[in-house]
Amino acid sequence: MIKKSNIIFTNLYGGSSPLLKGAVKRGDWKNTKSILKISPQKIIDCVKASGLRGRGGAGFSTGMKWDFMPKSTNKQHYLVINADEGEPGTCKDRDIIRNEPHKLIEGCLIAGYAINATKCYIYIRGEFFNEAQILQNAIDEAYKKKLIGKKACNSNFNFDIYIHYGAGAYVCGEETALIESLEGKKGQPRLKPPFPANVGLFGMPTTVNNVETIAVIPTIMRRGSQWFYNLGTKNNTGSKIFCISGHVNKPCNVEEELGVPLKYLIQKYAGDVIGGWDNLLAVIPGGSSVPLIPKSVCDNVLMDFDSLKDCGSGLGTAGIIVINKQIDIVQVISRLSEFYKHESCGQCTPCREGTGWLMRMMKRIQTGEFTAEELDLLEEVTYQIEGHTICALGDAAAWPIQGLLKNFKNQILNRINKKSSKVA
Ligand code: SF4
Repeated sequence: MIKKSNIIFTNLYGGSSPLLKGAVKRGDWKNTKSILKISPQKIIDCVKASGLRGRGGAGFSTGMKWDFMPKSTNKQHYLVINADEGEPGTCKDRDIIRNEPHKLIEGCLIAGYAINATKCYIYIRGEFFNEAQILQNAIDEAYKKKLIGKKACNSNFNFDIYIHYGAGAYVCGEETALIESLEGKKGQPRLKPPFPANVGLFGMPTTVNNVETIAVIPTIMRRGSQWFYNLGTKNNTGSKIFCISGHVNKPCNVEEELGVPLKYLIQKYAGDVIGGWDNLLAVIPGGSSVPLIPKSVCDNVLMDFDSLKDCGSGLGTAGIIVINKQIDIVQVISRLSEFYKHESCGQCTPCREGTGWLMRMMKRIQTGEFTAEELDLLEEVTYQIEGHTICALGDAAAWPIQGLLKNFKNQILNRINKKSSKVA
């Protein structure tokens, strides 16, 4: 369990000012100039050595992603920050921007320096209007104090940051759809390769990182890669903000070490499941797009990338949605199917058609107009979508239903049987 001295986001709950005065008191912008004297490759190596994995959902090594950027300097490089945060059950980046914007800005500067990107775009979802205003104020302060801009922090590096407001499409959280949207086009994912590191924003080398990923960089650089590496578990290092919502007594965001037991998180920080731990039915552990896990798994599972993968789910964004026994689990997953159908960009057939099928079939299960034989068809449709689409939205639509069928098939069959015996 995390020690107080290891907490990175000390102002996560907004106890003090988010602006420069408060940030400097919290240790932000301390000796940034000396970090900018380290060679870019050494910064990349340090981030690699820390074991930091992207906090936006995919969990890919951040240092390795930066290392994919071409080393030549004859093209404009871009850093793009994904602050779109559309994943249901997730609201950590909003709190970082609201209460710790300078950690993000300083992280952008260091990351931009490491990948030789002199321009940075922060793509923020339009609904986060108040947070974007706070962020803009913090950026203005940073320009005024010459922390960013020409010769940032009195170094030889020039660095500009621009905020871009998104218009609320979930799929724009996918990095290439985000880039398309930033270019002023319809937010639709691109076929890969080429990857953004080679052909990204405006056709130039680009790295897209999540807000939380970048906001922890200054602390890693100041406290050292080994310090970060020692937090969490092997291959799942560092701390992470977990968002706990749903049927808990105190929904909250909390920073903890990766590998913390799910039960401990829910009981210590969120005041337990409504009705007590034994009233737990299931948890969706990583934002709505990962398969749910039943209570028997929740009893002992650790919250990290590998442990959740091993039990057939995923850490995703660490948006923990708690579901107790008073709710109809079919209704929960049916609602998610409706969401994915609505958010499909329609570009590839399995997703465009399949998400509609899934939604309609789930609705029929809900109302009982469904036969036991059709359950196999429902499952088959999820496998026809999974892995057959341009972006991960297809998988995200398929996995919640696969999780439902894996863990609650008997309840669905009972429901169908009850309905047919009533009709008979
Ligand atoms: Fe669009 Fe869905 Fe294909 Fe992604 S998987 S590109 S959202 S149609």
